[in-house]
Amino acid sequence: MADMVGTLFIVAAPSGAGKSTLVNALLAREPDISLSISHTTRPPRPGEEYGRHYYFVERGEFEREVAEDVFLEHAEVHGNFYGTSRRTVQDLLQRGRDVLLEIDWQGAAQIRKAKPDCVSVFILPPSRMELERRLRGRGSDSAEVIERRLRNSRGEIAHAHEFDYIIVNDRFEDALDGLQAIVRAVRQRSGLQCRRHEALIRELLADA
Ligand code: 5GP
Repeated sequence: MADMVGTLFIVAAPSGAGKSTLVNALLAREPDISLSISHTTRPPRPGEEYGRHYYFVERGEFEREVAEDVFLEHAEVHGNFYGTSRRTVQDLLQRGRDVLLEIDWQGAAQIRKAKPDCVSVFILPPSRMELERRLRGRGSDSAEVIERRLRNSRGEIAHAHEFDYIIVNDRFEDALDGLQAIVRAVRQRSGLQCRRHEALIRELLADA
């Protein structure tokens, strides 16, 4: 079998669209995908753990890492900094793992430039009212943080058309099926399959 490099998936959405819940459910169904854990200067929410949800770092450390070119992409989102570790993502892809990045539209634009064969998905909420309801229902953010995230959601949604796929997260199971269908279709692409099944195709083509 030829050396296989994994696929880089990007999932973006405005806060409150249900992105993390969808991504976690996708990873439960598709355990061969690795989720990239980002670095952030945002303080942890209750229940969030270092190394599991994020690598929580001080602003100074983040700036040093930017200067050292640690990040494949990085951006300021809702007043905090977030970045994706270049080394971790490259290592996983080289080992043939598919990798999923949960990042914002600015990060997605940087990744598209660096890795044009990435596959990007944007999650939309079913309505403005529902977006607000989900954001307020989260209970772990202050009123000020919620207002800021609501204001910023338009800026995020304005970039939805730049993504390869769009999913409306109305009924959760439908949205999850849609996301999984994208992953599965990408894995069946002929370029990948021809490399994976090189020997099989050679055998099938050989003279009797
Ligand atoms: P939260 O603070 O709610 O965890 O994330 C806020 C926003 O930052 C979300 O849109 C999330 O996708 C984005 N984000 C998380 N990690 C990264 C990252 O490494 N890079 C970029 N560009 N955005 C990120």
